[in-house]
Amino acid sequence: MREVDVHVLATGACFHPQAMTLKGGGWGAKEFPSLPTLLVHPVEGPILFDTGYSRRFVEATRPFPERLYGFLTPMQLRPGQDAASQCRALGIEPTSVRHIVLSHFHADHVAGLQDFPSARIHCARAGLAQATRGGRLRSLCGGVLRALLPTDLATRAMFFEDAPRVSLPPDARPFTEGVDLLGDGALLAVELPGHCPGHWGLMVADSRRGLHFLVADAAWSSEAIRHNRPPPALTTTFLGDVTPYRKTLAALHALHTRNPDLMITPYHCAERAASLLRATEAAK
Ligand SMILES: [Zn+2]
Repeated sequence: MREVDVHVLATGACFHPQAMTLKGGGWGAKEFPSLPTLLVHPVEGPILFDTGYSRRFVEATRPFPERLYGFLTPMQLRPGQDAASQCRALGIEPTSVRHIVLSHFHADHVAGLQDFPSARIHCARAGLAQATRGGRLRSLCGGVLRALLPTDLATRAMFFEDAPRVSLPPDARPFTEGVDLLGDGALLAVELPGHCPGHWGLMVADSRRGLHFLVADAAWSSEAIRHNRPPPALTTTFLGDVTPYRKTLAALHALHTRNPDLMITPYHCAERAASLLRATEAAK
């Protein structure tokens, strides 16, 4: 696989009871960070895996019925924390981002999408179809805020389903097959069914950490992967499908058990966010 530099970004957080995400968890409000990833490709330049929160989420959840989304998962985002601001702080103009890979269309993953108007958008055809079917209310019930989607999304979309299928490296077993998004082996998208229709992760060769699997919402935390501890069926049923979700989580658990040093990053993992913060502080 072709190596890329990997920078996981902390772009705000949402709050809900841990018990919704982990069987036997507490009912107090817990912080779930939003962790999109900036990948720097040697030829294609900066690429994002998901975009995290942005102030557009606040605008999009002002009208009714979208206001319910903000009520159910309150969001916190400090100035400068959105992906576009963090890119600028790293010397990257948002217009120079030529590719965005979306795990799925839930608002906490796409709220920054409109800040990157030049990017091709790599996504699942099944996910886009589900996100844009019917009216606003139907989208909202599926965790999608239509106002966050760029109006030219259909013309910028490139679908995972059309990319060439490739074998994953042997270290990725039990995951064996992905699709090669750029045709050079740098970005391998891997379907991770269950969280919602058209949910995919991304496998990359991280220049500092080796094989790195960005698993989006296939697991809520590293703890869930270590112990194969799914959320209650009710949570998964609301947006996705329990049986494939649990099969995907069990496969991630098997991958971790087989290869404990392999980096797996769930999008909402507080433990991963804390370790990133420590690494950033240590680098200063
Ligand atoms: Zn999410």
